[in-house]
Amino acid sequence: MKQTSNFKNKDIETYIDKIKSYLDSKNLDYYDIRLEKSKKTGILIDNLKIRTIADNENLGVGIRIYKNKKLGFCSTTILENYKTIIDECIRATEKLTKTTNMKNFSSNKDKIKFKHKDFQDKDIEIKVKEFLEINKEEIETKRKDRDYKILESEIRYREEYTEKYFINPWSYISQDKPYSIMYSLMTGKKDNIIETNLNRNCKMGGLEAISYNDKQKVLSENTKILNELLVSKPCPAIKSNIILDAEVVGLLAHEAIGHPCEADDLELGITVLKKKGMVLTKNKNITIIDDPTIKGFGSFVYDDEGTKAKKVTLIKNGIVNDYMTDIQSATYIEEKSNGSGRAESYSDVPVVRMSNTFFEGGKDKNKDILTDFSGFYLKGFAGGMVEPSIGTFMFGIKQAYKYDKGKIVGTFKQASISGNILTYLNNITKVGNITDVSGCGFCGKSNQTAYVGDGGPILRVDNVIVGGTNHE
Ligand SMILES: [Zn+2]
Repeated sequence: MKQTSNFKNKDIETYIDKIKSYLDSKNLDYYDIRLEKSKKTGILIDNLKIRTIADNENLGVGIRIYKNKKLGFCSTTILENYKTIIDECIRATEKLTKTTNMKNFSSNKDKIKFKHKDFQDKDIEIKVKEFLEINKEEIETKRKDRDYKILESEIRYREEYTEKYFINPWSYISQDKPYSIMYSLMTGKKDNIIETNLNRNCKMGGLEAISYNDKQKVLSENTKILNELLVSKPCPAIKSNIILDAEVVGLLAHEAIGHPCEADDLELGITVLKKKGMVLTKNKNITIIDDPTIKGFGSFVYDDEGTKAKKVTLIKNGIVNDYMTDIQSATYIEEKSNGSGRAESYSDVPVVRMSNTFFEGGKDKNKDILTDFSGFYLKGFAGGMVEPSIGTFMFGIKQAYKYDKGKIVGTFKQASISGNILTYLNNITKVGNITDVSGCGFCGKSNQTAYVGDGGPILRVDNVIVGGTNHE
């Protein structure tokens, strides 16, 4: 859509009124309109060179219509064609054989402005110059402090600003969302060993979200991890007590609990967490939450069905307490949506998604958990998978620090943990009292990506198998 930048908010509102009146005249049981205007800018720096600077603007509308329990969807970037699109959509929907139960639609009127510093306040040339400077400092200036070589240092940066409108017969909501995302991908070499590591910082927010210092930190953290990976040995396979850092804990919350607590899985019968009140673990210290209202990468105020977002306690003291729902899946448990219907863009239908998912902090101080600890402290995520129907998982772990009576006695890489989530939760013996939900992820489901946050406190889990490459 090339005329996007010519579209002022007033023009958008005029189109919304026209589309709404047209839909009102069609005698539908329900409809909703999602109109979005977005601007994305990407920068790619490869060592000391600029590889790409890209700008991308987009404007479009997605419309759901509902009549006689048949649910249809259409979308377009050409707003002036709305009548043709809606007519076609109604015709196609009438032909559907599948029926869908939907009720308890939202009725909210609101205008949300996310407080942030506008991306336009700094020229793209200055942004690029800063990244070149930071990369040069890390590769060249700090070279003398290193005993390994950096073969490659790539920086990827993306900023996104989206204005979203949601309208149904009773709701009119506008909200905006700024995102700042930065990656550092580095490859280092020491003797004959080569390691690559990705470090990132993603925030909801504008220019203020990732400062110059934060950008430097993404790179300096990466060189530190690279240095450790280059001197670490592959982790042995061993039965041990372990401590999981917030990133791994967040992953466990998201993958092993969050996905099985998405209510659309209830209809399909593919979740291991079948019923509210089911005792997941006798361990009362386990509480797991999905909360779009806290500060995090997965935050929002209204979901893409116009429902106000709220905190959902998925697991409370070891018991299945609640599911994340959208309007459709809420009918499976005879409830109202709790605001978890999200769509990647106007051209996707909303589906049940997580927001910020985390273990709630417990009573144990971090230093008490580490004092006298013997076992492995596992840090950083390196890929994984979950089978939600039976609750098994396997996660790759980037780094494993071996502790003996509270002291680090070895550093390893290429570790993994696996097992059944239920037995795993039973074995959690300590829950740290500091909750860190700064983790960010790009969750894929139904061919859509959702920005999500995750984290938690550090957790001690006793007597589990740490996977590795050789036996000790
Ligand atoms: Zn996911």
